[in-house]
Amino acid sequence: MKILAVSDKDDSKLQACILKNMPFLQNTDLIVSCGDVSKQYLEFLVDNLKKPLFFVEGNHQFLPPQNETDNYLNKALFDFYSKDKYITSGGINIHSRLETFQNFIFVGFEGAIRYNKGTFQYTQKEMAKIVNKLKFKIKLIKFWDFILKRKQKEIIVVTHAPIKDIHDKQDLCHQGFTCFKTFLEEIKPVLWLHGHIHFEGQQNAQITKYKNTLIVNCYGFHTININDKNIEVTSNIKNLQ
Ligand SMILES: [Zn+2]
Repeated sequence: MKILAVSDKDDSKLQACILKNMPFLQNTDLIVSCGDVSKQYLEFLVDNLKKPLFFVEGNHQFLPPQNETDNYLNKALFDFYSKDKYITSGGINIHSRLETFQNFIFVGFEGAIRYNKGTFQYTQKEMAKIVNKLKFKIKLIKFWDFILKRKQKEIIVVTHAPIKDIHDKQDLCHQGFTCFKTFLEEIKPVLWLHGHIHFEGQQNAQITKYKNTLIVNCYGFHTININDKNIEVTSNIKNLQ
């Protein structure tokens, strides 16, 4: 399976590569967004690559201006579309959900740690509640797969915020979630994609191998090839030419 993962910026270099139909984009199976990119950008990727999209929202996601939310109809429409999983051309919002794709189960967690009154922010406690619910569902699936002797699907996690002590920073806004670390230890996903930590000026991705999980900061754009447990990450255009 080949994933095109994007995060945190609308990258015109990637758009140019797509318009030129560059070889590294061929055979892409799935687009994944870790958040903080515009809806227009995601629509461009989906429209041109014609591949499915799984996404989570970042903490800087577009919201209607405050005065527009005063209008009852605008607010109702916004609430409706926010809850619609097909909000972005064929894209599925996988926050707090499980979605199967090929031999993998994807699970997503949106937003960042609460640092002001903005949207898509969660306290450690609030996020732990969501994560625990999904952890239980995955354990149940694994249990039934074991009982019925079915092949266990590998788990891929998509988050905006990082895991506590892996790629995160000291300031409150960029601190990782502690519950993500517990999830990582207990569920042992094969791959964890996140954003939120800007990694400007780097040719390579910020990648950490933690036990059997490969954790990738998807800032910018990256292609990720997964063959069984073999994962190859190629980052940014400098490495692709
Ligand atoms: Zn962010």
